[in-house]
Amino acid sequence: MQYRRLGKSGLQLSALSFGAWVTFGKQVGRSLARDLLAMAHDHGINFFDNAETYNNGVAETLMGDVLADLRFPRDSYCVSSKVYFGAVDNPLPTQRGLSRKHVIEACHQALQRLRVEHLDLYFCHRPDPDTPIAETVAAMDTLVRQGKVLYWGTSEWPAEAIVEAHRVAKENHMYAPTMEQPQYNLLHRERVEQEYAPLYDAYGMGTTIWSPLASGLLSGKYNHGVPAESRLAQPGYEWLREAVLEHDASRLDKVRRLAPIAAELGVPMAQLAIAWCLANPHVSTVMLGASKLEQLEQNLASLALLPRLDAEVLKHIGQAVA
Ligand code: NDP
Repeated sequence: MQYRRLGKSGLQLSALSFGAWVTFGKQVGRSLARDLLAMAHDHGINFFDNAETYNNGVAETLMGDVLADLRFPRDSYCVSSKVYFGAVDNPLPTQRGLSRKHVIEACHQALQRLRVEHLDLYFCHRPDPDTPIAETVAAMDTLVRQGKVLYWGTSEWPAEAIVEAHRVAKENHMYAPTMEQPQYNLLHRERVEQEYAPLYDAYGMGTTIWSPLASGLLSGKYNHGVPAESRLAQPGYEWLREAVLEHDASRLDKVRRLAPIAAELGVPMAQLAIAWCLANPHVSTVMLGASKLEQLEQNLASLALLPRLDAEVLKHIGQAVA
């Protein structure tokens, strides 16, 4: 495993990490969750990502249960939660968003579900137009000072909102966000590569990037239709299928154009897509998702491919998805 600093912070995360979205509590039950986390930890993964909203808290409960069962030393891994969407269907106004009340109550609930005394990373899952940024920064600062959160960050915040959070924190001598959690993959590049470009040096911002395979699309598994039991066939995720697969047919064309490059290198497409994310120095960690052990095993091998992605290969990849 390779370890990278989370921005300018002293925290070193494994370059590949592992998250629970969709899978934990839906496609993945307790036994498989245990095997996945054990395999991840065995391979040096030290960051497990979660959120209050993932299967309405069930993903956190399952992860907490399995982490306790596996008895990994607490100082050998980091675990996260994210606050904003709430952990119930049709949340009341106090059960969602980034108000001081919900940020702090959601943290306490996540600590209970994950069975830990602190969250290593805690993210504002989206910007909240109904809460002043200063209120959210102050709530996060409180949690950090109480030792319940070690590093806080944002997820999918516009650059100007991140700048505002830093301004408020600096003016009030509060803890500023350390990291952002954006989507980043071969089909979704603009925010990480352009919008956030001024933030990396200015604030030492780290990134924990999500959906490196665009929910599996970049593995090539959807090139000839939607396999039964795949993520985009899951009941309740029709919106995701529309967004990932059906909304823009050119995405599938791009994936198909990547296939010969992976074949030339003699690697599965998923490894090519993940290694490409790792090649960006502003990526602190690439968060993997997996519904099967074989997928995680295959994806872990992406690190070995990274040194082979020289300028020429990167140019061909860029041309394929242009
Ligand atoms: P990916 O884009 O890598 O998608 C993972 C899914 O792709 C797997 O569950 C599996 O789905 C399929 N897959 C994975 N590996 C392979 C393979 N080798 N071959 C074929 N299919 C494969 O990542 P996620 O979208 O899961 O994102 C990773 C993590 O990021 C999440 O778990 C979550 O923690 C975080 N996240 C954060 C968000 C945010 O807003 N902050 C939003 C989304 C995710 P299947 O087998 O079912 O087809």
